[in-house]
Amino acid sequence: MGKHLIIANWKMNLTIHEGSLLVHKLSELTQNHRTVDVVLAPGFLNLQSLNLQIDHSKFKLCAQNFYWRDAGAFTGEVSANQLRGLVSYALVGHSERRHIFGEAGREIGRKVQAAIRHDIKPVLCVGETAMERGDGETNDVLHDQLVAGLANVTSDDMKHVIIAYEPVWAIGSGNSATPDDVEKASAMIRRQIQHMFGAQVARDVQVLYGGSVSMDNARGYLDTKGVNGLLIGGASLHADQFASIIKTAHQSLSGKK
Ligand code: PEP
Repeated sequence: MGKHLIIANWKMNLTIHEGSLLVHKLSELTQNHRTVDVVLAPGFLNLQSLNLQIDHSKFKLCAQNFYWRDAGAFTGEVSANQLRGLVSYALVGHSERRHIFGEAGREIGRKVQAAIRHDIKPVLCVGETAMERGDGETNDVLHDQLVAGLANVTSDDMKHVIIAYEPVWAIGSGNSATPDDVEKASAMIRRQIQHMFGAQVARDVQVLYGGSVSMDNARGYLDTKGVNGLLIGGASLHADQFASIIKTAHQSLSGKK
C-alpha cells in the first residue's frame, strides 16, 4: 500500500504573513508521518518564503497554476520553467481554472506536459458539473477530460502524474460526494487510464478526491477503495482542521482495504 497524498489548496486566500503563520501552526500540530505526503498549494507570492520556512521532510510545495510555455511575452503569467526546483507539484485544470478562466482540454494537456518536462508532478483535476451529473454524463466527462489532459503523455511519464477527482458541484459547496460516488469515479478513471496506458499504470496511479472534505468526512474517503488521498480547499485554511485530516490519513492506512 502506497502513502496517502494530502494537498492543501489555499486558492486566492491568505497574505504572505497569514500564510506563514498558518504553516507555523501546522508544523506545531503535525508529526512527520512516513505514511502521508503533505503538500501545500499557497498563492504564488507565498511560495518563495514558504520554501525557506518549511521543513522539507514534512511538507512539499505545489503551484495552483502556471502557463505551459517556458518563457516569452506572456504578461502576468508564470511558467513551469520558473517554478522548477521551487515546487514539487502543480495543480492542472482545477475546476475554477476551467470554469472561471475558460481553460480547456488542449491547454490543460499542454500544461500537464510542461509540468512533466520541468520535473513537477501535475495533479490533473477532473470532474463533472451538477448538470452533467444530472444528465448521467459523469463517465463521459471524465473520459473526455482524461483524454485531453493526458494527450501525448507516455506510460513512463504517468509515474509522475496524479489525478484528482473533484466533482464541480462538491467544491466549496458543503455538498460532498459520497464515498460510493468517489469509488465509482475512481474505478472509471482507472479504467480509462488502463485503456490509455495499460493495467500496471492504472493500478499505480494515485487518485485523490476533492470537494468539501472536512475533518468529519475525510476518513470515509481515505478508507475508500481506489482513493490515495485528498485535495482540500476550505478546511486547509484552518491549521487544526488540516492537521486533524493529516492524522486521519495516517490512521486510515492501517485499516485500508
Ligand atoms: C478545492 O479547492 O479543490 C476544493 C476541493 O475545495 P473545498 O475543499 O473547499 O471544496
